[in-house]
Amino acid sequence: MTTITEYLAEQKRLAEDAQADSTSLKMNTDTGRWMISSSKRTIFAMDQLVDTVPRMIAALEAVVRMHFPYRGPGDRDTCGSEICSNLSWGPEPWPCPTVRAVEAALGGGGDE
Ligand SMILES: [Zn+2]
Repeated sequence: MTTITEYLAEQKRLAEDAQADSTSLKMNTDTGRWMISSSKRTIFAMDQLVDTVPRMIAALEAVVRMHFPYRGPGDRDTCGSEICSNLSWGPEPWPCPTVRAVEAALGGGGDE
């Protein structure tokens, strides 16, 4: 099994290849699978993409579910996650660095 770092690196490489070059969609008549190709090579099959995107969304949902707003000491909004709420210097303010990093990577956030 590949590590999460290897999996994410491969997905990133595939996405960069797809963005760096003009792509086309072709049916592989042997397998019946729709393939996304660049001028260099076949990047991936459409059914892989259909499988990969929900997996990545589920992975992000799992991370974000662990980090939730919690009314902390002094009536401050803090992160209620096990990690963010048990720091030696006190709980992280909400949104915590993990949630801010996910929001930034998705190109949004800051409106909570
Ligand atoms: Zn957190």
